[in-house]
This record gives sequence, structure tokens and C-alpha cells, in this order.
Amino acid sequence: MLTDTLNRPLRDLRISVTDRCNFRCTYCMPEEIFGDKYRFLPKPQILTFEEITRSARIMVGLGVNKLRITGGEPLLRHDLHLLIEQLAQIDGVDDIAMTTNAYWLPKYASDLKLAGLHRVTISLDSLDNDAFRQMNGGKADVSQVLDGIRAAEKAGLIPIKINAVVQKGVNDHTLVDMARFCKDNGYILRFIEYMDVGTRNGWRLDHVVSAKEIMERIGAVFPIEPIDPNYFGEVAERYRYVDGSGEVGVIASVTQPFCGTCTRLRLSPEGQLYTCLFATKGVSLRDPMRAGATDDQLRDLIADIWRKRDDRYSEIRGANTLIGVDDIPVGDAKRIEMYYIGG
Ligand code: SAM
Ligand code: SF4
Ligand code: SF4
Repeated sequence: MLTDTLNRPLRDLRISVTDRCNFRCTYCMPEEIFGDKYRFLPKPQILTFEEITRSARIMVGLGVNKLRITGGEPLLRHDLHLLIEQLAQIDGVDDIAMTTNAYWLPKYASDLKLAGLHRVTISLDSLDNDAFRQMNGGKADVSQVLDGIRAAEKAGLIPIKINAVVQKGVNDHTLVDMARFCKDNGYILRFIEYMDVGTRNGWRLDHVVSAKEIMERIGAVFPIEPIDPNYFGEVAERYRYVDGSGEVGVIASVTQPFCGTCTRLRLSPEGQLYTCLFATKGVSLRDPMRAGATDDQLRDLIADIWRKRDDRYSEIRGANTLIGVDDIPVGDAKRIEMYYIGG
């Protein structure tokens, strides 16, 4: 089995299919930076569906069994269902999921399901329309995301997971409402601690509401108890509602990092491989691919990257935070951006 320097196997591939998005979430693509003049990647630089599928097939040969399509906003990539169709034909893939803001799901959900997509994770930070609009840059209303959720459900893209990033003083007054809504509708809610990913969102530790506090607030209203992870490397800490009405979780990448079980490799829209969400450097798969590399050569390249992998950014940042060291490299000019690599 292929493992990295910390004995972590390669299991998940996250494929970012575009750097574009129709939202301008303040923590991801703030409008001040990603305005009209911002230049996104030109099409020739972006991997074709055939190139993505070829890369994925090789990685499945190295141990990957789960694929997640992300972005930017993946539904902005034209004919995305054709990519899903190709990925669904790879032997050895157990799970194909997509993370989306749901805006275009009413239009595309059934085509995606027919093409072989298994399920979706939908980002919805609050049910309070003002708070939600404040967080998405004023680009959509809660009702539009709810339409997307219903379309996904109707198409059978289940179980539906909902991601909610929590920012202190912005949407943390709406946590219990989110929990109630997801519990009542059978959606699996994952709160996400606001992360210092990228360089442009002005992250500060005091903007974070800790996983502990989030779950205490939920537990005060709906009794919950912890449950085991579904599989090695699951990032969410899971809890079940004691009344049997489902589960809720929290992704505590800031206060309780999970680098020790991180089995994820990330492929950017233009074919760079990144071994960590906080990486400053990727390795191009596209260039050797377009220069005529064989599958064996690409496989050796990827295996070599994974064998040398030693990333544990969040653990190091966590340790520094705890002992009050102030050299956390927030704002590292070269660090990749969330909108580009997809979370
Ligand atoms: N556009 C899609 C969406 O929003 O679902 C997919 C890409 S988005 C970058 C993937 C996930 O990353 C979303 O759930 C988003 O909320 C989360 N995210 C983005 N920036 C974040 C940050 N600074 N901290 C925590 N989560 C973040
Ligand atoms: Fe777009 Fe998703 Fe980033 Fe929001 S979090 S700006 S929806 S890519
Ligand atoms: Fe994985 Fe990097 Fe996140 Fe740690 S910081 S969990 S290694 S992506």
C-alpha cells in the first residue's frame, strides 16, 4: 500500500473543476479582490474532462477510492455531467460526491444523478437571509439554496450533507436554527470552524467559534452524544441526537486538527497536485501529460509525491496557537486559495 512519510494512505481525491464562482463569500472570494477585473484561468490552461479522468484513473490505481468534485463552484463548469459520466466508469471508485453552493442544482441535479454522481454536500451558512447574504457577497437568498437542496433530494443525490462555516458575530447566532432545520429534514449538518486558508480573507483566531463551543450550544437545546467515525480519515467529529432524529457534526480543523489521518490529495483546475490545503506549492500533472508522458510515468510521479508527503500544517498551527507563538504564517503570499482548490 502506498503511504506517505507519516504512514497515511492515499484514499481521497478532490478535483477542483473551475476557479470561477457565482458567489463572493467574504471568507473565500471577497468581492473587493474578485471583482469585474479579476482574471480567472483561461480555458486552454484548464484540464479537459479526459485529462481529469485519466489523472483520476491513475490515482485510483494508487489507492484512491473516493472522488469529490469541487471548485470554485463546480456547477459553473459546462457539461459537468459528462465528466461525472467518465469518472463513474473508473473501476474501484466507491463514492463520487460534489460540494456545491446549490444555486444551479434545480437545473442540473437530475442530469448529474443520471451520469453517476452519488451525493452532494451543499454549503449553506445560515437560514437567516441577511446573515447569509452578508456571507455570500449578496449573490443569493436562502430560498434559492433551499430550492437546490430540494432538487438534489428529488434527484436522489443522498444523503444530503450541509456545510456551514461559522464566523463569530456573523452567523453564530443562527447555529441552533440550522441544527433544527437539518434535523427535521434528515440532512446531515457539518459545522466548519472558520479556517485560515488562503491569504485574502483577513482571518484572525478571534473570528473562530471553536467546535467545542458550537457543540455545547447545540447540545444545550438538543441532547447529543458522540459517535465513532464512519471510516479512517473522516474529518468530522460526529454526534447523534439522543432522541434518534439523526446526526450532526463539526469539522474542527483549527482547534482539533486531524492531519494524522489526512488521506486527501487535491487536483487544481489547471492540473496541479497539492498534498495539503495549506500548501504553497503544487506539482503539475498537466505539463507532463501534455508533453506525452505515459500512464506509468504519471503514476510514478504521483506515487513519488505521495511517498514524500509530510504535510501537517494544521497540527503545527494548532501547537503554535496553544503555546501563544505568534509566527503562524497567516497571509503567506504563496499559499493556495480556497476558491481555487476547493476545501
Ligand atoms: N463553491 C462550492 C461550495 O461553496 O460549496 C465548493 C467550493 S467551496 C471553496 C468548499 C467549501 O469550503 C465550502 O463549504 C465553503 O464554505 C468552505 N470554505 C471556504 N472558505 C473557507 C474558510 N476560510 N474556512 C472554512 N471553510 C471554508
Ligand atoms: Fe464560491 Fe464556494 Fe467560495 Fe462561496 S465558498 S465563494 S460558493 S467557491
Ligand atoms: Fe490535511 Fe493539510 Fe488539512 Fe492537515 S492541514 S488535515 S495535512 S489538508
